[in-house]
Amino acid sequence: MAKSKLSLRQQKRIRAKQKKAIDAATSDRDVEALLDSQQLGPEQPGVVASRSSNQAEVVSVADPSYRRRCYFRAHLEPPVSGDQVIWRDGEPYGVICGVLPRASVLERPDSRGTPRAVAANINHIAIVIAPEPEAHASLVDRYLVACEYYRIEPTLVVNKSDMVDALTKPLFDLSDRYRALGYRVMITSAKSGVGIESLGQLLANRISIFVGQSGVGKSSLINALKPSAQIKTSELSHAKAKGRHTTTTTSLYTLGSGGKIIDSPGVREFGLLHLSAAELANGFVEFRPFLGRCRFRNCGHRSDPGCALEQARKEGLISDARRKSFNEIRDSFNLA
Ligand code: GDP
Ligand code: ZN
Repeated sequence: MAKSKLSLRQQKRIRAKQKKAIDAATSDRDVEALLDSQQLGPEQPGVVASRSSNQAEVVSVADPSYRRRCYFRAHLEPPVSGDQVIWRDGEPYGVICGVLPRASVLERPDSRGTPRAVAANINHIAIVIAPEPEAHASLVDRYLVACEYYRIEPTLVVNKSDMVDALTKPLFDLSDRYRALGYRVMITSAKSGVGIESLGQLLANRISIFVGQSGVGKSSLINALKPSAQIKTSELSHAKAKGRHTTTTTSLYTLGSGGKIIDSPGVREFGLLHLSAAELANGFVEFRPFLGRCRFRNCGHRSDPGCALEQARKEGLISDARRKSFNEIRDSFNLA
């Protein structure tokens, strides 16, 4: 039984490999044919909106309302959403000639745990929270640690401000805490329109992604900012259900302000890969002055004697909530 299962899997893997080789050959042949046709336009800059296996949709920098599906050579590092490319326009397909160096790459593990790039050149992350579903500080902290680690600027977006009793004390306390740490906090309502214009201005000339729990209103916010995006939103009860199935294609939306939003479930779920305990602690900005000051060099920052972080917490320099969050995240990583 186990044996036949394994061989089935092996067969599948072999077939996938063969398909990949054929795709690569086709792709290269298509690229050569297009280049030979002498019908391609001049080289010009573009940004990748989305990619299927051997084609990518490119947005023209000169005219962001102009998009074209393009082939790229199989040996090119496969471009991802947000990649800046040099491309040549053509009918019905263009060709990507080169991918420019990336300023940042967000990765998430594939089914085998290998990190795969999901988006490039992101320079802003909107961390969305709402009164419902209830905001979890440790999730916000995970995203903030990621922002610090990748050196990407974050904004905490408190959405659904239209809800009756929306801005409750815990939510106020939470946003105050992040404001006090120097993070930008914006209040919005995708429903009533509150804060949408300011959010749009903030996104101008940035490449952003929206992250946060399912159901907080990420799709609704993107739709409010770019009505033509028409991303399907989901009722809260559905959004909460696990394994919610939506399209997995990554899309790039261009705003009138020149801002860009990259969105897909994969992008929303990028992970904190291979972070060490030290890198995690460093992602908590207010911990930094105390790091390296514990009595023991290998301090676990739990209840170790002479822990500088614990001392700072006692003195009110580090909040209980962030200390707790740090422990939770570290434990979830199984970090020493
Ligand atoms: P996502 O999973 O984060 O993309 O969340 P959705 O955009 O799909 O929204 C989830 C639910 O929250 C939907 O029923 C939306 O109509 C609702 N929703 C989104 N934004 C707001 C808002 O600002 N106010 C209120 N009251 N509901 C909202
Ligand atoms: Zn310590």
